[in-house]
Amino acid sequence: MIDLRSDTVTKPTEAMRRAMANAEVGDDVYGEDPTMNRLEARAAEVFGKEAAVWTPTGSMANTLGLKVNTNHGEEIICEARAHIQDWEFSMAGWFCGCLLRTIETDDGILTWDKIEAKLRPDGPHCAPTTLVELENTHNMHGGTVYPVSTIGRICDEAHDRGLKVHLDGARIFNAATALDVPVAEIVEKVDTVNVCLSKGLGAPAGSLLIGNANTITRARKMRKRLGGGMRQVGILAAAGLIALDEMPALLSADHANARLIAERVAEIPGVSIDVDKVMTNIVIFDIARTGKDATAVSAELKRRGVIINGVGGTRMRAVTHYDVSRADCEEACAILSDVLSN
Ligand SMILES: *Cc1c(COP(=O)(O)O)cnc(C)c1O
Repeated sequence: MIDLRSDTVTKPTEAMRRAMANAEVGDDVYGEDPTMNRLEARAAEVFGKEAAVWTPTGSMANTLGLKVNTNHGEEIICEARAHIQDWEFSMAGWFCGCLLRTIETDDGILTWDKIEAKLRPDGPHCAPTTLVELENTHNMHGGTVYPVSTIGRICDEAHDRGLKVHLDGARIFNAATALDVPVAEIVEKVDTVNVCLSKGLGAPAGSLLIGNANTITRARKMRKRLGGGMRQVGILAAAGLIALDEMPALLSADHANARLIAERVAEIPGVSIDVDKVMTNIVIFDIARTGKDATAVSAELKRRGVIINGVGGTRMRAVTHYDVSRADCEEACAILSDVLSN
């Protein structure tokens, strides 16, 4: 199977498996897992922040990120197709007691001007806006990347008004690769950022929430409240250390493969795609003009050894990662072309 559903399907590398087997461990709820302590310290260093806390999933890291930056009864601004809005089970309402006020964009990239127009004033009539949430890269808009200066301006303006900024950086290393800048430069001004170790970076599980020491201490308590205080997690942290330090260098190959898919897909009659928007490892295209149905196309592709899913209506999404080679991508495109043309 050539599995282009998501970069979450990557399996741990041989080096990760060896490191996991040999990991030194302790009870992490007591703060005594040496491998986890190393991973969290290393993440803080790489991101240029004071502290980090590991979570079993990216959704939990986002949950903590929203929770530590808000109080019940406040509003959070995010893009209309943000992961926190579409795929996290109304977590902002359920756990944080906050409403999401969303902003529609063509490319997933918010600007301060768009955000400012949606701010709710603190006063007798409205729940105040206290947090801005950004997603970089933006998943549902095809892995689009924020210019560093756009994030900087949003943070400066937000902080001037007492608002916090949380960055959903599940794929922040893809953004850093596309821009050729260190992740620390992208996140310099945000209050909290999460990063996923188990997508393109290949760890079997785990994300990190990163921020200042006081915020991360509070996040650690909230993690326990969610049932996320785990014990000998050094086994997973050992893979996470390799994900963090060695795997980002491989992402540019995924980006080149995504570009290849975008160019091939653009040649299929009836397929709509903006090739220039494909900057990282996610390719979203629309098959409306082929007259075919995304669910049926997915099923036929799978029968022929390729997994690409629909992401609503006639849109489909292919995600590249290190478990698919360039040759796999070429083959997948040939099969896709055949399925869509017949
Ligand atoms: C995958 C993802 C997450 C976290 O997802 P989990 O499956 O909970 O690890 C968060 N944000 C974005 C943008 C994602 O793509």
